[in-house]
Amino acid sequence: MNHPLPPPADGLTAPTAGLDALRWSNAFARLPEHFHTRLEPTTLPDPYPVAFSSDAAALIGLPASAATQPAFTEVAVGNRVPSGAEPLAAVYAGHQFGVYVPQLGDGRAILLGGVQGPAGLWELQWKGAGKTPYSRMGDGRAVLRSSIREFLCSEAMHGLGIPTSRALSIAGSDYPVFRETTETAAVVIRMAPSFVRFGSFEFFYWRNLHDELRLLADHVIDNFYPECRAAGDGARPYLALIEAVARRTARLMAHWQGVGFCHGVMNTDNMSILGLTIDYGPFGFLDAFDANHICNHSDDQGRYSYAQQPGVAHWNLYCLGQALIPLIGDVEATQAALETYKDAFAQAISAQFNAKLGLRDTHDADTGLTETLLGLLDAQRVDWTIFWRQLARLPAQSQGPATDAPVRDLFVDRDAIDAWLRDYRKRLAAQSSVDAERAARMNRVNPKYILRNHLAETAIRQARGDDGPRDFAEIERLLDCLRRPYDEQPHYEAYAGLPPDWAGALHLSCSS
Ligand code: AMP
Ligand code: MG
Repeated sequence: MNHPLPPPADGLTAPTAGLDALRWSNAFARLPEHFHTRLEPTTLPDPYPVAFSSDAAALIGLPASAATQPAFTEVAVGNRVPSGAEPLAAVYAGHQFGVYVPQLGDGRAILLGGVQGPAGLWELQWKGAGKTPYSRMGDGRAVLRSSIREFLCSEAMHGLGIPTSRALSIAGSDYPVFRETTETAAVVIRMAPSFVRFGSFEFFYWRNLHDELRLLADHVIDNFYPECRAAGDGARPYLALIEAVARRTARLMAHWQGVGFCHGVMNTDNMSILGLTIDYGPFGFLDAFDANHICNHSDDQGRYSYAQQPGVAHWNLYCLGQALIPLIGDVEATQAALETYKDAFAQAISAQFNAKLGLRDTHDADTGLTETLLGLLDAQRVDWTIFWRQLARLPAQSQGPATDAPVRDLFVDRDAIDAWLRDYRKRLAAQSSVDAERAARMNRVNPKYILRNHLAETAIRQARGDDGPRDFAEIERLLDCLRRPYDEQPHYEAYAGLPPDWAGALHLSCSS
């Protein structure tokens, strides 16, 4: 007969099993040894919990109550491997700033394994949990600063409806980590259905490991693109894979451009085969619109500037296509599949801007309307996010300068914006726009709240305790606000304002 356990004598509730209780399913670990190296994370002293996303936790069936348990913090920082996990570091390669680097890999990420959640499978990774065979000159660590940025941006992107890896937790330790200055270590647990990158394919292609290349492509197709298997025999599933990845990547780029997100390091090793935003480093959201904005201080040439992103994605897809040629055996067919990107992006970006403008349909002249507007916003450095929210409030019928002021006042050259507004209103009139309905529609695609650099920086300074005791509450407030970026949230109004002057001095680089 089973006897229920008595409550613990010290009056504490018995620890729930947390990550140990989840349904682990480690498909990536089943791939052969060329794909990865099994290893354990390196421990960190005296870990403390920093942040937890209950939304991400729900995806893997982990209760929010797990966050406060010391046992969870031990796992979150990498001091304990949950039972059922099979930790490993994956190998990959990639084109970094246009140059092929034959050996990269999880230099500071360690895959715990996959967890079957209520609505699908999620792979979990520690980021910053110590050295791996792929660490090269790196220390295998991440600092608290960059971990907070990755955590908040992952969840903010999800709130925006943009495909992304998710972030479950941050755990910190006072263990010193040396960057430009001495900082402290932190570990993020991030989640995605798969962390396979374009560079994962390039690794096997450039080493002539064609059997492994096929295994990887089949792993991706069977687990994530089953419809490509149905495309036929021989080369067809692989061509279908290129087309499917091209379409997802095109949609991702249109999303990024729409919200003014700059990734900063669009190397092929940072391009998800699932079309997700991954590997948050020196990313940034545009404040004032500058088409040539470069968010990564290390990107001297502006290779990954805002305006370049869609073109770079296509270039990166070519690297993927090249890597798949041994499975396809037909260069022209591969190229044709890669060209799917052009139409898919053109369609996605025009749908994106028409939705931002509140237009329900598309006309040939709309591209001109958008381009003129972007030229004006760029020339006058108008705040990207504020502009679109103000535009939603503009009445379709001009009722004089006072009603137009919220938009006009954002521009120095009033004549130029007046001329554009006249054209825009003609277009609205042609589709019998109803103000309130259009405003509601526009506010569902034009966020009010984005993770501006200075907002993340404020949360980081408080978390580090730069000017007082260490305080993680700002991370929690931002997380809460950014879950619903399209809603008016009057208590968070301060997060929707223009950046302060000091924001201009913030520099982000690859070193994090
Ligand atoms: P990234 O462009 O930041 O995604 O990183 C490029 C490569 O450098 C990847 O293989 C990373 O795993 C590796 N890397 C970055 N930072 C570190 C670090 N601190 N320690 C070890 N490897 C790192
Ligand atoms: Mg990376």
